[in-house]
Amino acid sequence: MRIDLHTHSTVSDGTQPPAELMTAARAAKIDVMALTDHDSTAGWVEASNAARGEGVVLIPGMEVTCRTSEGISVHVLSYLHDPANSELLNEISKSREARLVRAEKMVDRLAADYPITWEHVLEHLAPGATVGRPHIADALVRLNVVETRSEAFAHILNGRSSYFVSHYAPNPALAVELIRKAGGVPVFAHPAASLRGRVVTEHTMNEMIDAGLAGLEIDHRDNSDEGKEKLRGIADEHGLLVTGSSDYHGAGKPNLLGENLTSADVLAHIEELGTGTTPIR
Ligand code: AMP
Ligand code: FE
Ligand code: FE
Ligand code: ZN
Repeated sequence: MRIDLHTHSTVSDGTQPPAELMTAARAAKIDVMALTDHDSTAGWVEASNAARGEGVVLIPGMEVTCRTSEGISVHVLSYLHDPANSELLNEISKSREARLVRAEKMVDRLAADYPITWEHVLEHLAPGATVGRPHIADALVRLNVVETRSEAFAHILNGRSSYFVSHYAPNPALAVELIRKAGGVPVFAHPAASLRGRVVTEHTMNEMIDAGLAGLEIDHRDNSDEGKEKLRGIADEHGLLVTGSSDYHGAGKPNLLGENLTSADVLAHIEELGTGTTPIR
């Protein structure tokens, strides 16, 4: 069984629409795949229909953007939550609106030095999609300022750049609690992605565990080797599930479908814990 529990479509910052993503899953011989767009479940229906057609099992999911009080960025994956749960919906709606204002501010700052306008960004954003820096990166690529998204993130768009603006996002422990209340299974995404920015303190990790964290995404290309080792210790100590996933973004990142996988045993636990919606078979 090839199980990949972290992928993105054009509903957020992936480059393929949900249906096309399911076709790509079949081509990559994936048996079970989760769609985890940033702060949105808008792709679930299209992905469900396509998954049935392709014979791929879909785990409906989402990746919730969070920020600690010290300003550290945290992503929490949610599997099988109720997409209509009002408390969770309220938080992700606030984030999505804040992302829009923030992206416009970043473009304003960038426009002082580069020939970029908001219209350029919109060219890379599907209607209703969760906007993020990758869409600004795409505009910079089109304008020949950089060659790839990754190059844009290396300097111009990274968290230490003067063009960077942050946005409202819930505290990670709150997100974990709301995901649980919505019947979802919260898994800390790439917890040791030290190249992206600061990783969380032990205190934040413990707050998330106390709030009901179910698992850690350890097998992910952005986690450092040293970080993975530490995370395995934490998972053992607290009885957390361990997942592995690609974080596929289509052409937006080098990550390939199935490059990291989750065991059938862990998936069975996730399916047992998730009560907000069901896998699509
Ligand atoms: P944002 O949510 O707007 O803060 O942007 C963060 C998103 O940018 C993440 O979800 C990643 O998918 C993407 N990202 C981060 N680093 C890179 C990178 N080096 N290359 C391409 N995409 C990246
Ligand atoms: Fe992303
Ligand atoms: Fe992420
Ligand atoms: Zn992701």
